Amino acid sequence: MSEFVSVMFCRVCSSRYVDISEWTEEGNAVIRCRTCGNHEEMGRFVMGRCRVSPRELQDARDTRAKKGTYEK
Ligand SMILES: [Zn+2]
Repeated sequence: MSEFVSVMFCRVCSSRYVDISEWTEEGNAVIRCRTCGNHEEMGRFVMGRCRVSPRELQDARDTRAKKGTYEK
């Protein structure tokens, strides 16, 4: 049995190494790419982690949304 999850990638460099690096005083998460340093605040979503296979990660890359499109 498998479960569907969403994966966050950096839109600048496509890295999967995206983490919450700190929290603002307002309670927003600061999302930061460990590869290129790209970052921004996110107020109403949060991230979790799970282990996936290389094939599952590639599936996430192949279906990532781009500007003007939605998830496949
Ligand atoms: Zn990046």
